[in-house]
Amino acid sequence: MKKIGIIGGSGFNQIEGIERLENIEVSTDHGTPSASVQRYKIEDLEIYLLKRHGMNHTIAPHKINYRANIEAFSNLGIDKIIAFAASGAINKSYKLGSLVLSSDAIDMTKNRANTFFDKDIVAHIDMSEPFCTNLQKAFLKSAKDANVEVTENGIAICTEGPRIETPAEIKFYEKIGATTVGMTLFPELVLAREKGICYISVAIISNYAAGIEQNKITADMLIENSRISSESINKITLNLHKYIEYSKTCPCENSIEGTVLNAN
Ligand SMILES: [Zn+2]
Repeated sequence: MKKIGIIGGSGFNQIEGIERLENIEVSTDHGTPSASVQRYKIEDLEIYLLKRHGMNHTIAPHKINYRANIEAFSNLGIDKIIAFAASGAINKSYKLGSLVLSSDAIDMTKNRANTFFDKDIVAHIDMSEPFCTNLQKAFLKSAKDANVEVTENGIAICTEGPRIETPAEIKFYEKIGATTVGMTLFPELVLAREKGICYISVAIISNYAAGIEQNKITADMLIENSRISSESINKITLNLHKYIEYSKTCPCENSIEGTVLNAN
């Protein structure tokens, strides 16, 4: 049986159209994940969905136990994760409710537990190819089958939050190349890499970033656009089983090799 983990951001609560088999409570060495993990099955693929902000969206981005979330997937034997994140568009051409596949990332977080290697082992994980290209290909093929347009080559910047950015910050982020802004990509991406898990990130365009559009950003606006994109995500998810591979041919699994400076 093939397995895929999905991390759902704001608005994506469950997979519609296939039966949920169970909710799995997982405990980890780093505490409890954001929610129980929902298990589904379609053809030869098991899908495990974790709601990043908790079942009832009560956990703010800076309060998420990212280590527990990634370790939960690892403990369940999941070696591939597709992560969705509600994001603001810095690139004006992105449509609200659309999906942008990230190809690179910038970390602007300030105060988060951002590694599994903070005790006896010092490791500097390589980030020269931040996302798994094999999993990106599988995702894009599934989106094509689902008739969902996905914009490629997004550059995602991750802020500490929970406040929204200022117009000057967005102007700065645009200058350094970012096209979307969110609050949850880091350290999630890094922790997955440290565990040897293939990881890709899909930005859900829920609003335009500050200064890009005049309208004030409201919670209602964010939720409504997330709802529209949830339909797209659902359709893609139901096509994943055709393209997720049994064996890995990417380097993700061995990413920790050669990065450890000392080990007791
Ligand atoms: Zn990979």
